[in-house]
Amino acid sequence: MTSRVNKLLENNTLVDPFKRHITYLRLSVTDRCDLRCTYCMPEKMTFLNKKEILSFEEMYKLCNGFIQLGIKKIRITGGEPLVRKGIMDFFEMLKPHLSSDLEEVTLTTNGTQLHKYASQLYSNGVKRINVSLDTLDKKKFKHITRLGNLEDVLFGIQAAKDAKLKIKINCVALKNINENEIDDFINWSIENSFDLTFIETMPMGDIGNENRLDHFLPLDDLKKTISSKFELEDISFTSGGPARYSRIKGSDIKLGFITPLSHNFCSSCNRIRVDATGVLHQCLGQSNSVDFRKMLRDPGLTNADLIENIKKAIKQKPEKHSFEYDFSKEHIGGQMYRHMSLTGG
Ligand code: SAM
Ligand code: SF4
Repeated sequence: MTSRVNKLLENNTLVDPFKRHITYLRLSVTDRCDLRCTYCMPEKMTFLNKKEILSFEEMYKLCNGFIQLGIKKIRITGGEPLVRKGIMDFFEMLKPHLSSDLEEVTLTTNGTQLHKYASQLYSNGVKRINVSLDTLDKKKFKHITRLGNLEDVLFGIQAAKDAKLKIKINCVALKNINENEIDDFINWSIENSFDLTFIETMPMGDIGNENRLDHFLPLDDLKKTISSKFELEDISFTSGGPARYSRIKGSDIKLGFITPLSHNFCSSCNRIRVDATGVLHQCLGQSNSVDFRKMLRDPGLTNADLIENIKKAIKQKPEKHSFEYDFSKEHIGGQMYRHMSLTGG
């Protein structure tokens, strides 16, 4: 009897070949962006044609299938999600699920448009957001993002704070760029009660004349520097994601460390990604994928077909990514052809 109940439950959930329960969908709603961060894309980036991008209705249909299969959290990402026209309509479409079968809808943003949308996000049920910010220095900000102004992002962050959105800052650790201002960054996060997560640069997509290796900073090194100035205590907190967390004694913020290259974290992966063209990527650091766009545009598609295809795709989730950093040769391995701006971070 119990095994029959378990079987029935399993039929409505997503479990991959490595017995990981998939409950978290990251959906990229556009590959476009108003910034050109040096580690993310080249200065002259080629973006996709509009017709290649799923409509919100198509995205919603896919999300609905995932929700029926036990997805509890959806993160909207990009490119820059807040530059997609009508994006608030999409949050509105998802909102009714928050009072029934979805626990959370969140957003990852570069913050440039937050001043316009913070209150609407909150009223559409978004309670937490991640804002990507790598420096508090105006000149460095311009250098890293090529097109951005730091003031716009800080203004957006303040608007989000005023709108009661809980904010986590994501910061890509960059050797010789932001590593010397990490103390100020941490102090600013403490003052504002923002959790702060550091990320290692990943080899995703061509970035033109830039070389990621020039600025690759292993987070073990960064953590050592931080520990010499702040009292860190490792904590067991997990968001189900790749970050390992520490608390700074005497503060109420958490510091996260995402180390795809120096330490693998895949054994607890609970996520799946869909890019803006409707391609499902089973892993950020592998090329396995399933294209759902044609299916979603087929008027004959039934809900049962969609569910079966999602289940089939999850059965092909690989065990782990192939990113790695060879410390002796100072070489970054596992290069992916696609950019992070296609799949979202
Ligand atoms: N535009 C939004 C933003 O910047 O928050 C959302 C998309 S962006 C691709 C998501 C995250 O990926 C950001 O925190 C960004 O810093 C990070 N990112 C982009 N390219 C990366 C790379 N090659 N390695 C590591 N992180 C990267
Ligand atoms: Fe745009 Fe985000 Fe990539 Fe920067 S990291 S270029 S903000 S998509």
